[in-house]
This record gives sequence, C-alpha cells and structure tokens, in this order.
Amino acid sequence: DGTRGIVVLNPDPGTFLEYLERQRRYVTHDRELAKLRDMPARTVDGCEVRLLANLDVPDDAQSVLDHGATGIGLFRTEFLYMNRSTLPTEEDQFEAYRQVLARPVVFRTLDVGSDKIADAIEKRPEANPALGLRAIRLCLKNIGLFRTQLRAILRASAYGEARILFPMISGLDELRLAKCILDEVRREMIEEAIPFKEDTKVGAMIEIPSAAVIADLIAREADFFSVGTNDLIQYAMAIDRQNENVAYLYEPLHPAVLRLVRHIVESGRAAGIPVSMCGEMAGDPLFSVILLGLGFDELSMIGLSVPRVKKIIRSVTMDEARILV
Ligand code: PEP
Ligand code: MG
Repeated sequence: DGTRGIVVLNPDPGTFLEYLERQRRYVTHDRELAKLRDMPARTVDGCEVRLLANLDVPDDAQSVLDHGATGIGLFRTEFLYMNRSTLPTEEDQFEAYRQVLARPVVFRTLDVGSDKIADAIEKRPEANPALGLRAIRLCLKNIGLFRTQLRAILRASAYGEARILFPMISGLDELRLAKCILDEVRREMIEEAIPFKEDTKVGAMIEIPSAAVIADLIAREADFFSVGTNDLIQYAMAIDRQNENVAYLYEPLHPAVLRLVRHIVESGRAAGIPVSMCGEMAGDPLFSVILLGLGFDELSMIGLSVPRVKKIIRSVTMDEARILV
C-alpha cells in the first residue's frame, strides 16, 4: 500500500477485496485528475499560479510534464556528479541540460555535500555535514568545477528558456560572489564567441533562515526566489531532515516556518521579483490553499502532485485563501 507505506503479508479475502476496491477508486480518481492536464491552475475568481515540476534525472522529463506541469521549476543537477569517480565534463553537462530545454527549466547549480555524496569531489570528513561544506559553499571553494557547470548551463541557455538558481545562499556575500563568477564566465564566453542568452535570470534559493530573515535585502540582487522548505524547515526547527527520531518536529505549518515564508514572499513581491516554492511542501495538496493565500507565483513539485494541487487551486477563491492565511 504505497499511499500509507505498508506491506500486508498474506492478506485474508476481506482485506484483499477491500484493496481491490481501493485500487478501483484510486484509478477512477486518477482518471478524473488527468482531465485537468491542460487546464490552468486558476482559482474560481481568476488568479493563476504556475505549477512546475521537480526533476532529478533528465529521463523523467517527459513523464513529469505529462502530468500537466508547464515547465521544470527545479532541476537538481546533482545526478550528473553522483555514483561516478570522475567529474562530468562541460560537454556531458551541456548535452544533459540542452536535452531538457524543450520546456522552461530552472537549473539549480550543484548541491552536493550533506546527504548527497559525489565521490569525485575531494572533501574532508565533517562532523556535521548538513552544516558543512555543501551546495554553493562547496562550489565557491571549487571554483573550477563551478565555472564548468555555469558554462554548460549558459551554453544550453541558447536552446530554450533557462534560469539559474543558486542553492543554500546564506547571505549577500555568497550571492554576490556567485554572480561575480557567473559574470566572469559570461565575459569569457563572449570573447570566445560562444552563443548563450545574455538575459538568463539568476535566482537565489531561500532555504536557510538567515537568508529568509534578510530576504528583503537579497531580493534587490536576485531575479527570482525559490523557497526550499525541505532545508528551511530543517534549519529553522534544528532537526536533521533524515532523522526519524525528530521527524515529528518537521512541521511545515509551524508558525515560525509560516512567518519566514510570508516574509520571503512579501519581500519578493515588494521588489517585483517572482517567488516560487520547490520544497516538498509545495506538492502537498493539504498546503495548497495556504501557499496560494501567501501569494506564491509558482509552485514546483513532483509530477504526480501537479494535478492534485491544481484541483485544489481550481476549487477556491483568492479571498478564501487569504482568510485561511
Ligand atoms: C529544499 O531544500 O526544499 C529543496 C528543494 O532542495 P533539496 O531537497 O534538494 O535540498
Ligand atoms: Mg535544499
């Protein structure tokens, strides 16, 4: 039973029949949801939110889009670096990125370290890897590797609508340094006459409480925000997101989390930049009305969640959502 995460051994006939009936209801429900595929995620009173898909490997691109997402809101590029002993070349990466650009794609730069291990990147063991050298911190220490990835993404940008997203930004200095390296790469490519889209948008993931608190300052220097609730909740509540002993504290609706999220959205709105959410919270239909009422422009989630969230959004008005918030 995948919905509850249990295995029933040797079910008796009653249980077996009950599951057949549940399977039938599940399939019927899925068919109903499939009809929403080409409909907009628009509230009863006409407010629209863009629903996008998270992608972990390029091979899944078609299947996530088949669920009705209008693009890829989070492309986790880590897969290119994991389970191999050498680093991927610029060419390897360019091919992988170009391949998914038939739709708009937000390419998140490398976020290894912590739970995601890349053997080809040398790193001293750390006592607290989730608080250690991961994501943008690791890239800013390995600038050669970072530049290779940025070149590959920029080269791919010539083939579609690409955006670049920096993970684990903790403050302005990191964002400025990352953008400065990106600018160097751009200048280098212009000199080499390599085509790319010069106005490629550059966003910051807001998933560390320090960044959430100064979101108003970061918003002045980013083209868009994407809220990573998986990490934001982990760091705000001081719980390891993989530790089941403290999983009960993993509360997306904790008032502290909601206040951080509200501040991020309000800061983005005040600065006139789009605000997206790409953590798991975005794909849980239970939270859709709250996120709508908070004012998100985009929600990015696993493909399967897209029609479920769409159905909820299409059933309420913006006023109802704001009142709930
Ligand atoms: C997040 O932290 O919410 C997120 C989307 O990134 P990841 O789960 O890859 O850390
Ligand atoms: Mg994260």
